[in-house]
Amino acid sequence: MDKNTVYPYEPWSISEREFVVKNKHYNEAIFSIGNGYMGMRGTLEEDYTGPDNSTTPGMYVNGVYASEEIIYGEEAPKLPEKSQTIINIADWSKINIYLGKEKFDLLEGEVSNYERVLDMKKGVLERGLVWISPTGKKIQLQITRFLSQSSPHIGVIFYKFKPLNFSGSIKLVTESDGNSQNYHFPRKKKLLSIEEIGFQEEIEYVIQKANSTAIQIGIAVVNSFNTENMIRKESREVLSDKLVSQYDLDVREGEEYSLYRYLAVYTSLEMESNGSVTGDLKELVLSELKIELRKGSQVLLNEHQEFMKKYWEDMDIKIEGDPALQQGFRFNAFHLLQSTGRDARTNIAAKGLTGEFYEGHYFWDTEIYIIPFFLYSRPEIARNLLMFRYYNLEKARENARRMRLDGALYPWRTINGEEASGFFMGSTVQYHINADIAYAIYQYYTATEDKEFLYKYGAEILAETARMWAARGDYIPLKGNKFCINEVCGPDEYKPGVNNNCYTNYMAKFNLQFALDVMKKLEKEEPVLYNELKERIKLKAEELIKWENAVDSMYLPFSEELGIHPQDDSFLFKKSVDISSIPAEEIPLVRNWHPLVIWRYQLIKQADVILLMLLLGDQFTLEEKKSNYDFYEPRTTHDSSLSPAIYSIIANEIGYLDEAYKYFMRTVRLDLDDYNKNTYQGLHTASMAGSWLSLIQGFAGFRNYAGQLYFSPQIPSRWERLEFKIKFQKRNLKIVISPENTEYKLISGDELKIFHKKEEILLRPGKSIQVP
Ligand code: BGC
Repeated sequence: MDKNTVYPYEPWSISEREFVVKNKHYNEAIFSIGNGYMGMRGTLEEDYTGPDNSTTPGMYVNGVYASEEIIYGEEAPKLPEKSQTIINIADWSKINIYLGKEKFDLLEGEVSNYERVLDMKKGVLERGLVWISPTGKKIQLQITRFLSQSSPHIGVIFYKFKPLNFSGSIKLVTESDGNSQNYHFPRKKKLLSIEEIGFQEEIEYVIQKANSTAIQIGIAVVNSFNTENMIRKESREVLSDKLVSQYDLDVREGEEYSLYRYLAVYTSLEMESNGSVTGDLKELVLSELKIELRKGSQVLLNEHQEFMKKYWEDMDIKIEGDPALQQGFRFNAFHLLQSTGRDARTNIAAKGLTGEFYEGHYFWDTEIYIIPFFLYSRPEIARNLLMFRYYNLEKARENARRMRLDGALYPWRTINGEEASGFFMGSTVQYHINADIAYAIYQYYTATEDKEFLYKYGAEILAETARMWAARGDYIPLKGNKFCINEVCGPDEYKPGVNNNCYTNYMAKFNLQFALDVMKKLEKEEPVLYNELKERIKLKAEELIKWENAVDSMYLPFSEELGIHPQDDSFLFKKSVDISSIPAEEIPLVRNWHPLVIWRYQLIKQADVILLMLLLGDQFTLEEKKSNYDFYEPRTTHDSSLSPAIYSIIANEIGYLDEAYKYFMRTVRLDLDDYNKNTYQGLHTASMAGSWLSLIQGFAGFRNYAGQLYFSPQIPSRWERLEFKIKFQKRNLKIVISPENTEYKLISGDELKIFHKKEEILLRPGKSIQVP
């Protein structure tokens, strides 16, 4: 993707000062807006001409998907039968304006004062410009759009226009277009049909239905003006798949006029999951629109901005002395909020709600990257992401049965809770997802002490995932009768089908141990709940003994010879390759080499053992972290955007500060600087959360080991200050780090003991402590 413009390094916004056609797909992703329930790409309101006027608009509702039969070239039993793909629904955003007969077009006439700004503080996308038509008519446009954070079913476009040198006729044409399609992977078959389309008085409505899944999506849209007296004529037309509203206006030079275009969206998924919402989808979406409409545009905007204000109060990280970085972090934190489902029914896709790549699937990215990001500022979002796993436990059980295993095996890629990947060597083989979920539950519980969650929901997930591991491993005589887990893939997708992936075995052990601990605690503290759980999932006493034995006998790879933890049984016996000798155009290997070629070398796609050293960091010494980093870093291509953040954190921990900074910069501005040349496909949500991990776990050296907080700050000398807040066990902490010292303040909550560089510190309510 070509990109000539670099956004100025503004602290709270991303702005484009010139419309550069060739960057359009990239910008469609960057200027996306969303509210976790729905998201829309930054396509323009108006059409434009020119040889390259293709656009890839996207309007997505989280959790709304199509599902088709997976066609396998070569069949094998028990493979997933159905795909899942996020669907691009009806486009409600089209607004064209005509000055007399001349249609506003960015590539015709003359454009000045152009600016498109993603205002991250307010959560709105704004575009302003002055257009001079080919015959010399001058008009000023100011267009603002947002999808409400406080009313998730609502979106608004404010379209302001002011004739600067003429009075007379203007025509405005708006559209709701039900002829939507997926652009990134176009399908032969249409994914959606229109069930009903029309006007109810002046309100446009389109009810679509996914042909394969029968999910219905309803949108209702209405236009209103700040003043009606300039409307000379208005007409509405129902075309087969489109609703067109047209307004002939009489305008006066120098006066500003506003069109407000309001959207409401509902789907049959909410009707199914929310018992209180009953009845007809069309009625529901129409009434939602009418209710919200009564508030008026200003109230809707104020409520939305109030939400954003609170979000930033908790989530913002101030980085003084490095504007590129400051902007990069806020961009990431903003988009993560926009893309994350918060209703426990939906989750966050690898590309969020900003594109169709990865088909809108949710991965382990959620538990290992996104949950930590939200956990210390919006723990309720972390909880709902985990509840999503709870609600899909039954499907994970079915998945385990398909694989002849006990308990539950979570899908590697999913929207609806079932495995959606047809490429099992890249998906089902990554059994570690079970342990990643268990680990996230542990993190959530230790950070919040939310026993209600742990006992009512977490415990059941833990028991079922532990069961899966107990069934998945075997005691292998030639390995000293150790508990071995064979034929797996760790996080490094360049080594599938290996035995004893180090990450997997350690994390499985963690999962089993945590399940045992929680069962014991539950039995002691809430015997009734424990008995109910045992009864519900038919948990037997022998099973706990099996788990204990697996924990005690888990095979944990270590090479005495090299003093490192081998990634798996075969890794060290492969040929090592000097990555710098691989021509740059062949990287990422995943797009250029046959998988079998990659698999035969010591080449690593993404942090694997190094990620383990972060997650279970208290089980490894600093020396171990250093020797493993020294060994694995030169063998890692970072072909996955999930990798650099993790290397940055461990580099920080072992004192490799330059490398820490280098890897951090690769993660914090990955999409803004289009580092991987694929931002147009959608933003990289795990990497965006990784930038938080690198800042807080890396430069601030933050760790939560078993509910005890540790900090070990060291910031680059070019930064003047790093300031952030942490919510932890019903307390609010503020941490300010400068190159010379660190200040900890317990803003609210009971006193707390923390560790600063191994030194114990007691934080008292309302007080600050400064340490060198
Ligand atoms: C990575 C996976 C990740 C997926 C979605 C892949 O390239 O290897 O670890 O889950 O992208 O982000």
